[in-house]
Amino acid sequence: MDIEKCIIIGSGPAGYTAAIYAARANLEPIMYVGAEPGGQLMITTDVENYPGYPEGVQGPAMMEDFRKQAERFGTKIFYNVVTEVDFSGDVHTLILDNGDQVQAHTVIIATGASAKWLGLPSEKKYMNKGVSACAVCDGFFFKGQKVAVVGGGDTAAEEATYLSKMCPEVHLLVRRDELRASKIMQDRVTNTDNIHIHWNTETLEILGNGEVTGVKIHNNHTDKISELDVSGFFVAIGHNPNTQIFHHILNMDKHGYILTEGKTTNTNVQGVFASGDAQDSKYRQAVTAAGTGCMAALDAESYLVENGII
Ligand code: NAP
Repeated sequence: MDIEKCIIIGSGPAGYTAAIYAARANLEPIMYVGAEPGGQLMITTDVENYPGYPEGVQGPAMMEDFRKQAERFGTKIFYNVVTEVDFSGDVHTLILDNGDQVQAHTVIIATGASAKWLGLPSEKKYMNKGVSACAVCDGFFFKGQKVAVVGGGDTAAEEATYLSKMCPEVHLLVRRDELRASKIMQDRVTNTDNIHIHWNTETLEILGNGEVTGVKIHNNHTDKISELDVSGFFVAIGHNPNTQIFHHILNMDKHGYILTEGKTTNTNVQGVFASGDAQDSKYRQAVTAAGTGCMAALDAESYLVENGII
């Protein structure tokens, strides 16, 4: 079996950026795109905060640009999902969804994360038509409008605070009578005049007419059902890093984010590097993911040189 110099798992901004750098360093990278080719940006519409696109760009179009740039330098892209890994030897083995096995000296993980959703049919229906899981990405489109945020953790508190600077009313829908968020974020949310917290409140349905116009909510203490007029509905109930296949192999935090060493993308396994949202629960931006993808390719190249492989 051929041993590749570098295999990249995942095809969001981190994976494609790793591919561009690895290809230009003659590592002849192979990419397996994963279950969601293009990653989370494929379910985003306008991206206005990625430098280099002064007029903004549609998420899928941007990922197409990334793909073309990676291919231009010779990245080989395969539409497979990696289902299993064996990192126990010096050479790493990956098993694909078609049963094939491939081997590489270095592996760059760029498998990303997926937002958790409520699972309501109306949430799916109005996705990108008022429903979003990222205030930093989409908040701008709701400037001057009323919005709702669902969740009670740090993400929801951050999203509500971010939106409160551009929206006249932010309705924070919390399913219990307390927030899970850190004390400092709780203070920030409760001390912001235009954030209205709805305790013990669950979302029944997102209402709309082509685009979101409101939300039907249920108070689980009083049993009262009511409606709020909002044009944006932000789901902020957490993310799941797509790292299941690395459990018990790579060091992770308690949420499943891969731990990297210091200011590198090194994991606890030699020759395996982690980039993007699979190792970042904090920034989670396309541009930060791309940055760590670049770092991972440079770390992989150094590893190959230091070990006399190239
Ligand atoms: P989280 O801490 O797991 O909180 C999720 C929140 O969503 C909880 O309040 C939960 O309610 C609520 N929720 C879950 N499922 C729900 C549903 N179906 N309907 C309604 N509400 C639901 O997630 P997170 O806020 O994304 O934070 C994840 C980790 O990242 C945390 O450790 C957090 O501190 C960290 N983080 C840090 C920063 C920062 O440092 N700046 C920013 C963001 C996140 P319950 O409380 O009732 O379970």
